[in-house]
Amino acid sequence: MRRVYMDNSATTPVRQEVIEAMSECMKDDFGNPSSLHWFGRQARRRMETAREQVAGLIGAEPEEIVFTSGGTEADNMVMKGVTQQLRHKGRHVITSSVEHHAILHTGEYLEKNGFDVTYLAVDEHGRVDPDHLRHAIGPQTTLVSIMLANNEVGTIQPIEELAAICRENGVLFHTDAVQGVGQLDVDVETLGVDFLSLSGHKLYGPKGVGALYVRRNRRFQPLFHGGGHERRRRAGTENIPGIVGLGLACQLSHEELPERREKLVAMRDGLIAGLIERVEDVQLNGHPSERLPNNCNLSFNYVEGEAMLLNLDLQGIAVASGSACTSGSIEPSHVLLAMGVSRELAQGSLRLSLGSFNCTEDVDYVLETLPPIVDKLRQMSPLYHGKE
Ligand SMILES: *Cc1c(COP(=O)(O)O)cnc(C)c1O
Repeated sequence: MRRVYMDNSATTPVRQEVIEAMSECMKDDFGNPSSLHWFGRQARRRMETAREQVAGLIGAEPEEIVFTSGGTEADNMVMKGVTQQLRHKGRHVITSSVEHHAILHTGEYLEKNGFDVTYLAVDEHGRVDPDHLRHAIGPQTTLVSIMLANNEVGTIQPIEELAAICRENGVLFHTDAVQGVGQLDVDVETLGVDFLSLSGHKLYGPKGVGALYVRRNRRFQPLFHGGGHERRRRAGTENIPGIVGLGLACQLSHEELPERREKLVAMRDGLIAGLIERVEDVQLNGHPSERLPNNCNLSFNYVEGEAMLLNLDLQGIAVASGSACTSGSIEPSHVLLAMGVSRELAQGSLRLSLGSFNCTEDVDYVLETLPPIVDKLRQMSPLYHGKE
């Protein structure tokens, strides 16, 4: 059976070059980078090369990169560490209602620990209004965290504008750029951010490794205490193979970005147009133009997303639905609900996220396979028959 992987926003396949660099590193450079001898120095050299590669992709200096165990840790580091560091100044944090759970659930944790958190609303395309941010900032606000691009609907936020508002008001700004890095031009100077999270497994690197960009002189309380690793910002012996893999994935992304983006946009637009043409009662979720090159998120009226997902899986196609099965009940996506999408349409949503391993034949296969599945499910749906 043909296998088509279109769930690249959940995780990407690991590139062959990355696998090779990592296994070489595990074989040859097993030293502890804190050791002074040759083995230690060799491991440290590999790590510092990777730091340059990560910094290079986002226009940062190597000293501004802290390696983490992934996007979730980087998000936690900022949300907890910055608020803790500045708690004498104020106890108010601002984020948005469409963030990844790594931010939202950390916000809830902060609320339980004496902080006020504002979750900014978004418009029907999933965008934060800069004026809303301006009005939400108060004398108590110390940190604002707004994602660069949404993992479900692909909407890109006006980060430059949001970060500028924070700078004018003396408030630190973080962006979760996990979905954007590797697909969009991301430059920390252009964006004007103080902190930025990225993750290896969303850009064809390994899982369990990521990085936090920390602008020079920005301070935060560390999550982990122990040795003086990562300039005292993250204790623990570094995950050298993972870091080497992340570094190479960043370097390759940097070189290939324009070409990758062009290819993804062409496939994405073909997929969206093809599905809208072949299926009735479909709506595109997210922003029509300010969206990730790889994201296609559609709601199919009168069908359950999970049912489409499982039927596609039987045909070898891997996608995501906009609902998460938590404790047996299907909860519609918080992102779609925040955008004002009805519960019914939110439950009928499907996310197809492309990657650089996809080809136009994959798109054609989905265009052949999905419409008959939607037809079949609608024929079985009482809601659909009630429509006429
Ligand atoms: C995947 C993802 C994360 C979490 O990254 P991990 O490395 O899996 O912990 C955080 N934010 C966004 C937007 C993501 O897509």
